[in-house]
Amino acid sequence: MARGVYIDGNWREGRGAAFSKSCPATGETVWQGAASDASDVASAVASARRAFQLWSRTPQSERTAILERYADEIGKRSEQIAQTISRDMGKALWDSRGEAGTMKAKIAVSIAAQKERAGEKTEAAAFGSSQLTHRPHGVMAVFGPFNFPGHLPNGHIVPALLAGNTCVFKPSELAPGVAALMSECFEAAGLPPGCVNIVHGGRETGGALIDQDINGLLFTGSAATGVFFHRHFAGRPDVILALEMGGNNPLIIWDPASIDAAADIAAQSAYLTTGQRCSCARRIILPEGKFGDEVVDAIIARAKGLKIGTWNEPDIFMGPLVSERARQQALAFQGALMGHGAKALLPLAGLERGGGFVSPGVIDVSGAEDVTDEELFGPLIQIFRVRNFDEAITRANTTKYGLSGGLVCDDDARWETAYLEMRAGILNRNRPTAGASGAMPFGGPGLSGNFRPGAYYAADYCAWPQASQLSAKAERMTAPGFPA
Ligand code: NAD
Repeated sequence: MARGVYIDGNWREGRGAAFSKSCPATGETVWQGAASDASDVASAVASARRAFQLWSRTPQSERTAILERYADEIGKRSEQIAQTISRDMGKALWDSRGEAGTMKAKIAVSIAAQKERAGEKTEAAAFGSSQLTHRPHGVMAVFGPFNFPGHLPNGHIVPALLAGNTCVFKPSELAPGVAALMSECFEAAGLPPGCVNIVHGGRETGGALIDQDINGLLFTGSAATGVFFHRHFAGRPDVILALEMGGNNPLIIWDPASIDAAADIAAQSAYLTTGQRCSCARRIILPEGKFGDEVVDAIIARAKGLKIGTWNEPDIFMGPLVSERARQQALAFQGALMGHGAKALLPLAGLERGGGFVSPGVIDVSGAEDVTDEELFGPLIQIFRVRNFDEAITRANTTKYGLSGGLVCDDDARWETAYLEMRAGILNRNRPTAGASGAMPFGGPGLSGNFRPGAYYAADYCAWPQASQLSAKAERMTAPGFPA
């Protein structure tokens, strides 16, 4: 039986409704326990509030040293972390190992980012000096998504702690297991109790958390949830909101010399982690004619050849979707597009293995009407065929989102145009749209967030600047017309 709530450094049962999570590949129950109810959530926030008094006054060097030890502890448990993530949400073990590695690597990057973006500065002035420092906000509520259930909450929690905030973390109910391992790492690193508290559960627990007296909400998840939170905190400029949301990401492929390279990039962009990455390409934009036809055929060949299986089977490229429900949603999304005139070139289909298993799909939506501008969080490519490059760019930008995008093209002039005109926070050339560096900011315009990018820029939303003019001694003031 897993534990539902972690407060002041102790795990205990939650007082809310029982819930469980099963592995989407095997059906085995991987987590069961009771959710945190409103009283648990209130206790967790109170614990974080108490811990803030001490933690916010702990010298920066000590906070940094504790987080460096946390990185070591993550490293020691990386295999356990990877297996827990894979079992909970189904992705291939190599994929989860990458996530565990990123969790560790994130800490050094966050320390460097904090120094650079939220550090201190003093300048000499005639009266003494001017000084810039940064202050923590207070208690941060951290919400995680299921697809990177360790790395993405970690990407909020580590910068928040470095800056002197304390946290109440609500992991995704679809991948709850990794949170307990993170708590072990924090304890072993010597993080004082109460600096990170954990509440488990779904929307009800999350709803209770946003109703508490918190100073910030650091969220990674869907646009629908992010918009809901944005509305909830309307009129509350005192609460910092960092919303990292999804995208309906375009990849333009325009006459590169290698059709195979283009198809590799397209298939990896769309199908990594079974299409469950926020930066996955959803829309592939190609010219009409022979070149485009050949690329489509090459993408379909790759989709047919992908090895799909249970997370610990050797050499699989992708596992199932996170749940049977997600599989039904993917099939329904595809069905709706076909109802609007899309043609299935390779239909996404449920596999006999059941659970969340689907085969990847490719559908041509060029002739469809009212193609919905929504993110399908699964392995489905929508192909758009266009007449010229201008139309390709226009099509790419025809979305209310703006997270990632890409151009596969060997021509520098076309890249210059795409670079200037495509509206995406992560814009790659001849690389998968899902490729992103942890040492760069991560986020995009439109409904992909609220202009508070994460990763390297997370330091910005974890602290507020305080600027001071300092004079050691009170001296008389002078000004024209002011009595001497
Ligand atoms: P989700 O929005 O369904 O859930 C995210 C978190 O919010 C979960 O902890 C969930 O319990 C909570 N939540 C959901 N609805 C809530 C409500 N009404 N009240 C309170 N809490 C609520 O997202 P998900 O399905 O777990 O993750 C996939 C989504 O996340 C995709 O849209 C993907 O694009 C996005 N994502 C974005 C990034 C990024 O950095 N921009 C990274 C990864 C995933």
